Amino acid sequence: MTDVQTTTETSDDLTASYDAVIVGAGFAGMYMLHKLRWLGFTARVYDAAGGVGGTWYWNRYPGARCDVQSLDYSFSFDSELEQEWEWTEKFSTQPEILRYANHVADRYDLWQDMQFNTRIEAAHFDEGAGRWIVRTDQGDVVSAQHVVMAVGTLSTPKLPETPGIETYQGETYQTQKWPHEGVDFTGRRVAVIGTGSSAIQSIPLIAEQAAHLTVFQRTPNFSMPAGNRLLDADEVAERRADYPAYRQMARESFFGIPIPGEPKMAFEVSDDERDATYQAGWEAGNLVALIGAYGDILFDKAANDTAAEFIRSKIRDIVDDPEVAEDLCPTDYPVGTKRPCLDTNYYATFNRPNVRLVNLRKTPITQLTPQGIDTSEESFEFDAIVYATGFDAMTGSLVAVNVRGVGGVELKEAWSDGPMTYLGLAVSGFPNFYTVTGPQSPSVLSNMMVSIEQHVDWIADCMVYMRDNGYSTIECTPEDQLAWVEHSSELGDQTLYPLANSWYMGANVPGKPRVFLPYIGGVGPYREKCDQVAANGYEGFKLA
Ligand SMILES: Cc1cc2nc3c(=O)[nH]c(=O)nc-3n(C[C@H](O)[C@H](O)[C@H](O)COP(=O)(O)OP(=O)(O)OC[C@H]3O[C@@H](n4cnc5c(N)ncnc54)[C@H](O)[C@@H]3O)c2cc1C
Repeated sequence: MTDVQTTTETSDDLTASYDAVIVGAGFAGMYMLHKLRWLGFTARVYDAAGGVGGTWYWNRYPGARCDVQSLDYSFSFDSELEQEWEWTEKFSTQPEILRYANHVADRYDLWQDMQFNTRIEAAHFDEGAGRWIVRTDQGDVVSAQHVVMAVGTLSTPKLPETPGIETYQGETYQTQKWPHEGVDFTGRRVAVIGTGSSAIQSIPLIAEQAAHLTVFQRTPNFSMPAGNRLLDADEVAERRADYPAYRQMARESFFGIPIPGEPKMAFEVSDDERDATYQAGWEAGNLVALIGAYGDILFDKAANDTAAEFIRSKIRDIVDDPEVAEDLCPTDYPVGTKRPCLDTNYYATFNRPNVRLVNLRKTPITQLTPQGIDTSEESFEFDAIVYATGFDAMTGSLVAVNVRGVGGVELKEAWSDGPMTYLGLAVSGFPNFYTVTGPQSPSVLSNMMVSIEQHVDWIADCMVYMRDNGYSTIECTPEDQLAWVEHSSELGDQTLYPLANSWYMGANVPGKPRVFLPYIGGVGPYREKCDQVAANGYEGFKLA
């Protein structure tokens, strides 16, 4: 790739000029474009995908659906959109969410300012001009005053680091890059590697179709029944009538999903009461019902153990073979400290005669072979292997772009010991550069729709403030950035999250610094902080 700065790109090379370049056409990029255009800015969205929807464009594996309820996992910025769109299920399927994304693009006529099948390769800050020069893999070189990275937090998939992976001759699939035409596993011997959220959603459906399914598990996950069902007209009408108040509660809540009442602490109640609460949480089909049931579950190991043991007892009840049940029980990290999962028949799938669990803690994979997978004990042959092996979360897609700020410093270098941001929104040394749901913001610990809207609104307000006050650049100070990073990390250290080798900690990617990536101060308090920064004339930023 040509280096934009050293080739001294001149205005002659530029194919276009915008107020903002937005990288990514998922929900974040779409709303950012709509908002900026509405405020009178020019903007262009680029996405490597062939259409809108981001996550919901790519992840088309069987069973892919949201696990925050559809009536929460949707835009709130336009009450007409909120009132007109019909969600059919409690947890919408990927095709339905993708239809929604396309509807949003149609409704606000976003298409004309979006360019697909186009990857942003580089973005370099031209200090003289105070503007970014952005290069795509299609040969576009454009100039923009602002760059908004709406690249997604779970958008760079990773493969396992297994010897021989390239030698396997059968079909391979990645959950994140699922073929658009679907896959028919009928009569086939299938392997799934991984047992995270995507695996937990897809395994029951693949098992129904395949002749035989072998699941290779390194770390078992805590999962709860989704209780998915069709939405009934009355509950939709009720929510629609109450949407403004409900959305406000979501914005002020801890996870971006309202939980009624103030939670007690786990040992303030009797064992029976706690069990009843957990049972209700188990039946609620709500991602945060159990981990939010008591105020100390994410902070106190003993409190957490009560919730974890409750879920383990459910796994032992559901799974017939006691040895398989034990293998499926997570025991070496607290519940909630890896992304919790909701499922439909996940644990029961292991009672099927055509399904086998291989515990890689006991018998690790040694290599992939042309025919299949070798573990330390056995050789398996497969017609197809599905990689459900997760993402380089939160930072992967940001550092994949060659972003260079003041002095030509590369973002990847600046973050070599872990991401450094102010509010998870801005990076010192990178003026007019914004990260939607970036590291050190609530992001993946929240209902992402709430967090996306909050960041997009904040960025748009900031651009308006600059325009109104005649500023051309904004950059956070290194001191305020450091204070925020330290604050975020101190909060993380008060929780149980650091006890897990999770992608929240960057622990799933070899060589990635082990730091707690999201901000655990809560969606509501975090929003207050961001609003306060803006109200104080963008405290912590230098405006020029
Ligand atoms: C399977 C799955 C299920 C999920 N379920 C939920 C849920 O129930 N609730 C919830 O809150 N969150 C969920 N999430 C998180 C989900 O990612 C967010 O809710 C939301 O969709 C993120 O939107 P986004 O626009 O920020 O990013 P994305 O949807 O990830 O979109 C980012 C886009 O940027 C593009 N891009 C990245 N880098 C470049 C580049 N250099 N050049 C051009 N284009 C680029 C990508 O191609 C992608 O299309 C889920 C994630 C996954 C993977």
